[in-house]
Amino acid sequence: MRDFLVAGNWKMNGSSAGNAELVAGIIAGAPRSDRVRLVICPPFPYLAPVAAQAAGSGVAVGAQTVSQHESGAFTGEVAPGMLRDIGCEYVIVGHSERRELYGETSATVAEKVKAALDAGLKPIVCVGETLEQRESGSTESVVEEQLGAVIDKVGIAAFATAVVAYEPVWAIGTGKTASPEQAQEVHRHIRALLAGHESDIAAATQILYGGSMKGENAAGLLAMPDIDGGLIGGASLKAADFLAIAQAAAQG
Ligand code: PEP
Repeated sequence: MRDFLVAGNWKMNGSSAGNAELVAGIIAGAPRSDRVRLVICPPFPYLAPVAAQAAGSGVAVGAQTVSQHESGAFTGEVAPGMLRDIGCEYVIVGHSERRELYGETSATVAEKVKAALDAGLKPIVCVGETLEQRESGSTESVVEEQLGAVIDKVGIAAFATAVVAYEPVWAIGTGKTASPEQAQEVHRHIRALLAGHESDIAAATQILYGGSMKGENAAGLLAMPDIDGGLIGGASLKAADFLAIAQAAAQG
C-alpha cells in the first residue's frame, strides 16, 4: 500500500516572520500518521531557515525548481547539490508555471529531474494538460509526452524515488478542481504508462493530484485508488487549510 504525500507549493509568497508562524503551525498540527508525509516548498531565500525550523519534525522541505547544471556560470540559478546541502529532500520540477512562463520544455524538465536525482533529491515531476488540450481530447497524449521525456532520460527505475504530480493546468489557482473521477482517469493512465515499463515500480510510485485542492474536496480525491496525495498551492499558505488536507489523507 502506498503512503500519502501532501506537498505545499508556496510559490512566490512568504516572509521570514510569516513563514516561522506557518511552519510552527504545520509542525504542531501535522497528523500523527505513519502513512502521511508532509512537504513544504518555500521560495529559495527561505529554504535554509525553514529547513532548520522543520529539522527533526518529520515535515520535509523541498524547492520549487532547480538548475539542471551542477555548478558554474549560470547567474541566478541554484544547483541541486546546494539544495541537498541546506537540507532539502524534495524538489518540484516542471510545474506548469515554469513551463508556461519560463519556457521549460519536456527536455529541460527531464534534464532537471536527472540532475536532482543525481544529487540525491526526490523530484516531484509535474505533468498536466491545458483546457484547450483537454477539450481537444489530447490529455493522455500530453501527459505521455511530458512523462515519456523524463522516463527516456532517467529510466523507469528512477520512479522508485521520483514522485509524479498530475496537475491539470485549467485547475491550478482557478478554484476549478478536477472531479475525483476525472483525476482518477488520468492517474490510472499515468500508472499504466509507468507499468508499461516496469509494473513493480508503477505500483509503488506516488502520483499526486494538484489543482485547487482544499479541505472540502480532498477526501473525495484522496479516496481514488491511484491518487496518493496532493500538490497544494493556495491552500498551503495557511496552516489550517494545509492541515485539513493532511487530515483527509490521514483518514483516507
Ligand atoms: C500548484 O500550483 O501546484 C497548485 C496546485 O495550485 P493551487 O492549489 O492553488 O491550484
